[in-house]
Amino acid sequence: MRASVDEHPSNFHTPKFDSPRSGAMIGTLATLRTRGLRWLQQALPQSCALCAASSGNALLCEPCAGALPRTTTACPSCGLPSIAAAVCGVCLARAPPFAATIAPLTYAFPVDQLLQAFKYGGALALAEPLADELTRAVRGRHGAHPDAIIALPLSPARQRQRGFNQSHEIARRVAVGVGIPLLRGLARVRDSPPQAMLPWSARVDNVRHAFAGDATLRGRRIAIIDDVMTTGATLAAAATAAKRAGALAVEAWVVARTLPPA
Ligand SMILES: [Zn+2]
Ligand SMILES: [Zn+2]
Repeated sequence: MRASVDEHPSNFHTPKFDSPRSGAMIGTLATLRTRGLRWLQQALPQSCALCAASSGNALLCEPCAGALPRTTTACPSCGLPSIAAAVCGVCLARAPPFAATIAPLTYAFPVDQLLQAFKYGGALALAEPLADELTRAVRGRHGAHPDAIIALPLSPARQRQRGFNQSHEIARRVAVGVGIPLLRGLARVRDSPPQAMLPWSARVDNVRHAFAGDATLRGRRIAIIDDVMTTGATLAAAATAAKRAGALAVEAWVVARTLPPA
């Protein structure tokens, strides 16, 4: 089973780095913890978070940013690779509750390392380049944008424990980048065991009634933002709750998509 970064307890305090290249990254990523303030990030020359080369005002140098693993042709419904970007067989057989999924990156090295450092390692400044990837993908797609963006909520207890909601950190930047309002209106009402601790087959039941939407969503077309989509069960539960609260259509926007086991 490939574990998502989502709530993976073994990664909670110390991201795993397992290659020589990753070793150099630890030091660079660690320094980002002290560079959380945006003004400081822009005032000082940066070292690339992946290769430590000079990267100007950005956290990733251009060659590293350009080499991130990307999903080039994906199923528009679920975001998994699909020939000619056609709707995949799984979605044809059973349409997901999303009108669309946008997931520019593949959850593989080094995207997994960046997301883990951001989420569990306190490298909050990485929200910027990760959100930029999503913003560019949203701007580049065809069709009308939704009316509003919602960050996938954490339970109050989980948010207190982590100190921030990684989805909100990405969503507020994408909202500005795309020019769509960021709303609340969705709450996590049940704290279920971390999805990464469960087999993929158990994840739908685990989050089935985890979310509730309020009247803010009525009549709106929304995009729910999360950092990673693995099985899609969490986002599907959130989308279903949003529709139950009156949302007309729900898109899933994530930075990275986990590919299913081979
Ligand atoms: Zn680099
Ligand atoms: Zn699909």
